[in-house]
Amino acid sequence: MEEETRHRVKKVVLPSGKTIEVVLFSERLEIEPAARPPAEPAQDLNVCVSCSSAMVFPADWAESGPENWSVVLCCPNCGHERTGVFAQHNVERFDEQLEEGADVLARDYRRLLRSNLAEEIDRFVAALHVDAVLPEDF
Ligand SMILES: [Zn+2]
Repeated sequence: MEEETRHRVKKVVLPSGKTIEVVLFSERLEIEPAARPPAEPAQDLNVCVSCSSAMVFPADWAESGPENWSVVLCCPNCGHERTGVFAQHNVERFDEQLEEGADVLARDYRRLLRSNLAEEIDRFVAALHVDAVLPEDF
């Protein structure tokens, strides 16, 4: 038990007045720089290595040394998941691709919304023309 004393107890007073004790364990284990895996070669992180779908998204990420990131990549198409270490510039490019993807989705959504509204208006106008819409409908 003595070896496991690398923690400290912090008293926290909650808004209710209740005091709880939070056990803080010793500092995060710092991995030696030499032990950190090197970054994989630059690649299109949005492309799935298993099915080639370009819809891969980051499920989790953490710094891996001063220049690299450890990223969990998930493919919604085939469910493939992998973790890799990638250089800052590679991750920045991935981030840009994700933003571009979000822009495309937003554009498609607005287009769909407009098209649905236009169809609805057309149907409403057609209904007005044949007197299918009456004051008591409102
Ligand atoms: Zn895939």
